[in-house]
Formats: sequence, C-alpha cells, structure tokens
Amino acid sequence: MDAVKNLIKIKKNVPSNVKIIAVSKTYSTEKIMQLYNYGHTIFGENRVQELLAKYNALPKDIEWHMIGHLQSNKVKYIAPFISLIHSVDSKKLLYEINKRAKQNNRIIDCLLQIHIAKEESKYGLSFYQAEELIKDKDLSLLNNVRLCGLMGMATNTSNLKIIKNEFKALKDFFNKIKNKYFANINYFKELSMGMSNDYKIAIEEGSTMLRIGSAIFGSRK
Ligand SMILES: *Cc1c(COP(=O)(O)O)cnc(C)c1O
Repeated sequence: MDAVKNLIKIKKNVPSNVKIIAVSKTYSTEKIMQLYNYGHTIFGENRVQELLAKYNALPKDIEWHMIGHLQSNKVKYIAPFISLIHSVDSKKLLYEINKRAKQNNRIIDCLLQIHIAKEESKYGLSFYQAEELIKDKDLSLLNNVRLCGLMGMATNTSNLKIIKNEFKALKDFFNKIKNKYFANINYFKELSMGMSNDYKIAIEEGSTMLRIGSAIFGSRK
C-alpha cells in the first residue's frame, strides 16, 4: 500500500488540473495494480518491451504513456493502444507514428521532447530544431497524429535555480510556439515537465503533466 500512500501525499501538492503520470518502469505489475485499485489509471513506461508486457498483463482501461526514447521500428507495437507519446524527437519518428496510427484507425497524441538540460544527451530537440519541425508545411499532411505540446527534463542537480530556469525557458518557448502556430488549436496545451525530485518547481513554472516514478513507488533497483 506504500505506493498508494505516496501518491495520496503527492496529490496534496498538485493542483487538480495537473495530471500525474505514475512512471512504472522497473516496477512490478502488482505495484501498478495497487494504484489501479485505488483509482489511478495513468502510467508511463520508457521501454517498448516492458510496456507491451505490462499492457498485455493489465486492465485495458489503463492509459499508457510512452515517455522514453522511441525507435521508429518499434512504433508499430504500441500504435494500437498508446495514449500519448511524450518523446517525439524527429520528423522521421512523427511520420512513422502517423503511418502506424492510420493502420490502426487511430489518431495518436504526441509531445515533442525538447532538450533543456545541461547534461549531454542524444535525445530531444533544441528549441530551434523544434520550431523548424513545427513550422514544416508537411506536418499538416499528418492526419493521424496530434501535436499536443512539449516535454522536457531538467538537469539532474540539487541547484534549484538551474532547474527553475530550465523549466521557465521551456514554458516561454511553449507560449511562443502556441501563439505563433497553435493559437486556435485547443489541444496544443500540454507541458510535460517535472519528476520526483523537481515536480514542485515544475508546477510553479506551468507544468500540466508530471512524470513521477520513485516518489510514488520507492527507489529503483
Ligand atoms: C524515469 C523517468 C521519469 C521518472 O523519474 P523519477 O525520478 O523516478 O520520478 C520521468 N521521465 C522520464 C523520461 C523517465 O525516464
């Protein structure tokens, strides 16, 4: 029951309009079921294989979010059921998601992952690359994906000022993009930022989706 207790405690700090994605990577289906039985139905995973195994084993009304790096050749496995892909970081991947969504008669919601941290990472677009992708005229041809917003991960540091500034920069960029390209598009509204160690700052800076793992489930092995 610890996971449920932790979630209840976290919820006290989270406004009701901010979604909590329980990041269940590495944790057992039993732990997920504890939260499910309490009434929490949104879970995030970062590896396709683990996501598939859990999807197959667990109730079908769970809303699954893909939060980790996604290879194009694996999109087909999750296209039938995935609710939101947080980690889109290339045009190629977006095209593949569109193709597989169409084959499944679905429209798949996506976020663009933006690299905001100081750490080196292969994943995530720069602000510049993201805007280039968004203003690409070809995107309007993709009828089976919906760009719903942006995702970012702050630097893993105890310096709260650095984290705050990174989230602030992402929020500013989100506002700019929203006004320039999605002003009348009501579904472009999600800002996925904030994890176990920095979700309170993320809320202050305008997050709409928190991806919280260890603070709910306990530390990962
Ligand atoms: C693991 C992970 C999280 C959750 O991390 P915690 O520190 O356990 O809350 C959030 N986002 C992404 C992309 C992750 O891979």
